[in-house]
Amino acid sequence: MLTVEEALAEVIKEARPLPPAERSLLDSRGCLLAENVAADADQPPFDKSLVDGYAVRISDLTSANRRLKIGETILAGQTPTRRLGPYEAAVIMTGAPLPPEADAVVMHEHTRFVHEDVVVDAPEVRAGQNILRRGRICRQGELLLQSGNRLSPTSLGLLASVGRTRVRVIPRPTLAILPTGDELVEPAQVPGPGQIRNSNAVMLEALAVDHIAFSRVFPIAPDEPGELHRIVQECLVFDVLLVTGGVSAGQRDLVPAALERSGVRQVFHKVRMKPGKPLWFGIGPQRGEQPGTLVFGLPGNPASTLVGFLVFVAPALQVLAGRSGPVPAELSARLDFEFLHRGDRATYRPARWVEPPSGTGTSGPGVIEILDWAGSADLVGMARADGFVILGAGDRVFQAGEIVRFLPLR
Ligand code: AMP
Ligand code: MG
Repeated sequence: MLTVEEALAEVIKEARPLPPAERSLLDSRGCLLAENVAADADQPPFDKSLVDGYAVRISDLTSANRRLKIGETILAGQTPTRRLGPYEAAVIMTGAPLPPEADAVVMHEHTRFVHEDVVVDAPEVRAGQNILRRGRICRQGELLLQSGNRLSPTSLGLLASVGRTRVRVIPRPTLAILPTGDELVEPAQVPGPGQIRNSNAVMLEALAVDHIAFSRVFPIAPDEPGELHRIVQECLVFDVLLVTGGVSAGQRDLVPAALERSGVRQVFHKVRMKPGKPLWFGIGPQRGEQPGTLVFGLPGNPASTLVGFLVFVAPALQVLAGRSGPVPAELSARLDFEFLHRGDRATYRPARWVEPPSGTGTSGPGVIEILDWAGSADLVGMARADGFVILGAGDRVFQAGEIVRFLPLR
């Protein structure tokens, strides 16, 4: 049986960054850019006013004269029809283009009306005041975003501002979520005798959102070989398939056989970990130009599914999305109390911060409490957790204050 590290190395070995493709801006959120993007025009494209007020020529404003005639009104979206006349001010709105000859804008609040004229009260009017000059933000052709940049909401706004509605990126991976098990009913239903609700699907769906994958949840598949085989084949067009349940050693654990019948090559089955030992991993058939689907058979217990996702699926999604970084994203933490651990497998136990790593004034790792829980079906215990403490294989006492590995949930 592989250790977690060995199994993860197998997963990483099989995962490849997805080929670049063109996507809409919103679909590119969080993705790596796969092209350089330059400005299509000067920004701003004209000298513009930063405030509502009066466009003036400062040479008209002397200590002797603060009074100007009011000329045309320039609204945002309009263009001036003429240059400023002598001792004339144009009424101008925020974002509107400056008329020729104007070299400053006086804020409305610093002026007052006298008969038909405007009087400038501002003691000092400097050249360029309240004006954003053409090209001040960027010049036409200037490189704005480089290939490899990760697209934040701000970068998407920038792309829109230079006229892009689609962009080349390493696309978001697509993820199929297939819950299996005759005992499952959907969350809205009241379970009958022997039944339980399907809680894994929505949990995985939410995790997929966090990891910028597009997911589709399939209806619950029964523990029936023919049906499983049929549905699995439908799922093999996705980049990643997460099957939950049916990978243990029970009589109705039919998932590995259904996967292999669908041409999914097993890479490993079972990992030396707790929970999640029966985890199954394989590669689907090549999809045209695309590599085969990465298929994870996650044991059905909620903790097994969750830990399996965090430890194996999340790093795989990261590789598919072209991103590097620590995989999985572990932290160090200090134990609040002594803890006796028994077990021959790496063990993941829900834990929560009693003192988070930052914001407390003390630098260094935070302090965690290992939570009491009823085992891998216990979502109540898990929902209180901030993550999982990782206790290595072998019986031993972890001391209070000892530094341990911690896999955060977020
Ligand atoms: P299995 O991996 O099929 O042996 O299932 C292990 C345990 O997880 C069983 O108690 C199942 O009822 C439970 N389980 C399986 N699938 C789900 C699911 N989608 N949501 C919640 N519990 C599940
Ligand atoms: Mg089952």
